[in-house]
Amino acid sequence: MTVRVRFAPSPTGLLHIGGARTALFNLLFARHHGGEFLLRIEDTDRERSTDAATQVILDGLAWLGLAHDGQTVFQSQRAARHAEVAREMVARGSAYHCYLSAEELKATREAAAAAGNVTRFRSPWRDRAPSEAPAGVAPAIRLRAPREGETVIDDLVQGTVRVANAELDDMIILRSDGTPTYQHAVVVDDHDMAITHVIRGDDHLTNAFRQAQIYDAMDWPRPHFAHIPLIHGADGKKLSKRHGAVSVLEFQEQGYLPEALCNYLLRLGWAHGDVEILDRDEAIRLFDLDGVGRAAARMDPAKLGHINAHWLKLRDDAWLAAEVARRLVGRPNLALGTDAIHRIRALMPALKERAKTLVELADSATFLAYTLPLPMQPKAAGLLSAENCLMLREVATALAASDFTATGLDAALRGFAEATGRKLGAVAQPLRAALTGSTVSPGIDAVLAALGREEALARIAAAAR
Ligand code: GLU
Repeated sequence: MTVRVRFAPSPTGLLHIGGARTALFNLLFARHHGGEFLLRIEDTDRERSTDAATQVILDGLAWLGLAHDGQTVFQSQRAARHAEVAREMVARGSAYHCYLSAEELKATREAAAAAGNVTRFRSPWRDRAPSEAPAGVAPAIRLRAPREGETVIDDLVQGTVRVANAELDDMIILRSDGTPTYQHAVVVDDHDMAITHVIRGDDHLTNAFRQAQIYDAMDWPRPHFAHIPLIHGADGKKLSKRHGAVSVLEFQEQGYLPEALCNYLLRLGWAHGDVEILDRDEAIRLFDLDGVGRAAARMDPAKLGHINAHWLKLRDDAWLAAEVARRLVGRPNLALGTDAIHRIRALMPALKERAKTLVELADSATFLAYTLPLPMQPKAAGLLSAENCLMLREVATALAASDFTATGLDAALRGFAEATGRKLGAVAQPLRAALTGSTVSPGIDAVLAALGREEALARIAAAAR
């Protein structure tokens, strides 16, 4: 049996990171078993499902490197097939036409509630002869669900879960307007797509019972189900906007790398010993459903930052410099020409050691693109006393005589400090203020080298004026 799995998002306008994790688990499972990973857009709710909303999902998956196999299936285009299967179920006797109007349905429910009747709603049309059908009323189609016994699912993550059939009513599978209900469409599509494993969030566990009944009603083999625990916030509640970013796009904007987000999402709910850092190949090699835990996973921003910092260091410096420049566009007091990008690229090995996200990286690199005069942070301005400005002019002379390599600059600064009886820090801090407008930066020799002779000396001169 070839493993075939799918990711089946509803296009609601964002790709939730819970959804991204579901997609990732499906992809890894498929690749691990040499199977296929399919994509189905569940766009039956035509009000909410716009092309733009679908595009957001496709873009998010592409960014995360979660490419699916084969054509994307759009659920809305399969409505005729959904209706056909519903009619086939009627012909088989496992579903029936229900002519109850919305008002009658409401009245039946209310009467049952008033009588304190706790059993599930039952349509009288289950046992009525089709010949009694009222003229001119379009019927809905309901599943003739079993009333005795239990529906049991051997879930690959949750274990054996069961529900008494008396708990489940005869759900509608095809509405009177001919449109399928969600439960029905999912089953027909998964069957037709030959899905072997349904791996999704455990908020769908209760749906699985209903869906299992539809498979059984059609005598279709059920797929294996694997319901993975949802992602919770640090407070243990279901992840929502209150907790900060929830969509893949937000994490992208906040400067997380796709390989880091995938690494983090993989570890959120799946473990292989205490292996923390995994690239895609390693993840494919190690992933299987037995490593998925049953407890809800909690979002841990500090850990995400830690993992992102790891992957950031492995990114190519030229790529990082271009990305930083892109993120700086539109900020005030900057000239983002080739000079600036060259400087950012030159300092990147030092900058990326200190940043957890691309946003932090861009912030720390901003000074390299400043136009003169530099915007000064108050603390930095405080270092530019008349006395220090005098010193900076002398330092400039010493630096000008160096070869402007990091080693040459370091030697020049040490020599100057020694010759003038100053501590190195007493020279470096005012210099840092002059060069960066701030009191924190990578090593001053690296900063000088990255700025280059002309720019560095111009900045010192401007600050010391
Ligand atoms: N469309 C459903 C959702 O976005 C998923 C359905 C499924 O995976 O079976 O939550």
